[in-house]
Amino acid sequence: MEGLVEMTEIIASEPQLPRAIFSALRRGGILGTLGNAPSEAPKVPTSMDIFPREQRSRIMSRIRGRDTKPELLIRSMLHRLGYRFRLHRKDLIGTPDIVFPARRSVVFVNGCFWHGHSCPRGHLPSSNVMFWERKIDKNKRRDHNARKQLRKEGWKVLTVWGCQINNQDRLLKKLVQFLERTGTEHARMKLSR
Ligand SMILES: [Zn+2]
Repeated sequence: MEGLVEMTEIIASEPQLPRAIFSALRRGGILGTLGNAPSEAPKVPTSMDIFPREQRSRIMSRIRGRDTKPELLIRSMLHRLGYRFRLHRKDLIGTPDIVFPARRSVVFVNGCFWHGHSCPRGHLPSSNVMFWERKIDKNKRRDHNARKQLRKEGWKVLTVWGCQINNQDRLLKKLVQFLERTGTEHARMKLSR
């Protein structure tokens, strides 16, 4: 159900996706399943088979919340600034989106809706309120626990929200401040050892 609902959201918010895909998904029953019981929802692969492999992997990647537009933008910003990082380290709790091993720092790039940001994009739909509340609350708890655990293990954690790419200057400053601060602290820690 999770994948299906997210797919619906992605498709709805992705105007450049060809209309053919949109209508194929509708035929496949993916659109319009919002609010149905999870057991009634069709399986994704049936409908996904209609896509060429490359497109399929792009869409599946979006469903898993990876390589989203904000994330790609932030990665390219960091790359241009000369930072070296790794992606989606599964061995770390919460699978942080961007990991700076040398600085022992991680960045989560969170979609406002799915991770419950306190911004207009984080507003819950007005129908099926209970369903969404439970779902988003669960995500928020999971995020909170991951951050807590990572900090306990000595990682510095920054969360960037999808809506923050609207002000790229501010975002850039925030990223650099975070990375330089952690870099300095890390260096100081090293020196004092
Ligand atoms: Zn937001």
